[in-house]
Amino acid sequence: MEPILSVNNLKKYFPVHGGIFLRRQGWIYAVDDVSFDVFPGETLGLVGESGCGKTTLGRCIVGLYPATDGKIRFQGTTLAKRDRGQLKAMRLKMQMIFQDPFESLNSRHTVREILEEKYRIHGVRDKNLDQQLVTLLETVGLSPRALARYPHEFSGGQRQRIGIARAISLAPDLIVCDEPVSALDVSVQSQILNLLLKLQQEMGLTFLFISHDLSVVKHVSDRIAVMYLGRIVELAHRDDLFAAPSHPYTQALLSAIPIADPTASKQRIILEGEIPSPENPPPGCRFHTRCPHAMAVCQKEEPLFKPINDTDDTHFAACHLL
Ligand code: SF4
Repeated sequence: MEPILSVNNLKKYFPVHGGIFLRRQGWIYAVDDVSFDVFPGETLGLVGESGCGKTTLGRCIVGLYPATDGKIRFQGTTLAKRDRGQLKAMRLKMQMIFQDPFESLNSRHTVREILEEKYRIHGVRDKNLDQQLVTLLETVGLSPRALARYPHEFSGGQRQRIGIARAISLAPDLIVCDEPVSALDVSVQSQILNLLLKLQQEMGLTFLFISHDLSVVKHVSDRIAVMYLGRIVELAHRDDLFAAPSHPYTQALLSAIPIADPTASKQRIILEGEIPSPENPPPGCRFHTRCPHAMAVCQKEEPLFKPINDTDDTHFAACHLL
């Protein structure tokens, strides 16, 4: 099967300015040489600690940030830098759901204006637009009366439903979901996740699902990519990753997930220290400053991202131990 999205050697560096003349003094290596495919109808979970570059990666994919280098191929077409026409056409088919539903909705616009804006920007004229907006709201579990109201009149979960309605309004094929439930109460999170899964089935959607929460990612994903300091360190089918994590960082993340059974024992791997600054990533393996298995070679040589064994071409990791 051909991927719907291919990301190849993607890099996104942000300049750091300082001094009296605000000269460039360095770079933040937010995303540094990332490659992966997403296949039609699947959910690829992208997980990692805050600051690992996963949101920047999602924003590069939908064109909110221009990439520094690398290629993004969507539905067979390589997205060219600065081609506004192509970007606009691509945005019809690729949408984003944001972390904070309040920040991402214009507080001075009614829900009707927020939803209509999508159609206007993309020049989509529909004489049945009123009916379409009503159907859209009902699809995400909101009353048509919501059309006349403003974002502040809704709860967090309802606002995220409006964000989802906006994302699906033009029938996209791929949605980048950037921490779509992390700003919501736990009781509301599962409702929104179940809504996303229902829409995926009904509309044949493909998701790139970004989250720092492995439990959430496990619930929704077919495959999972683990990101650390701007790089993907492990990628595998969900069940394989949870059954046998290969990279020491993934092992530490999984060991921190609470288990429901109070009688079961679990050894938590505590990682020492903070995630290093992406402005000054460590040489060699970027995880060596926190890795409990670090060896001398890890400080000098970057491990290759490769299949974990000769017989499995679906499970990849980057570690000198493999
Ligand atoms: Fe740890 Fe070395 Fe593997 Fe990096 S390459 S994860 S430092 S053992």
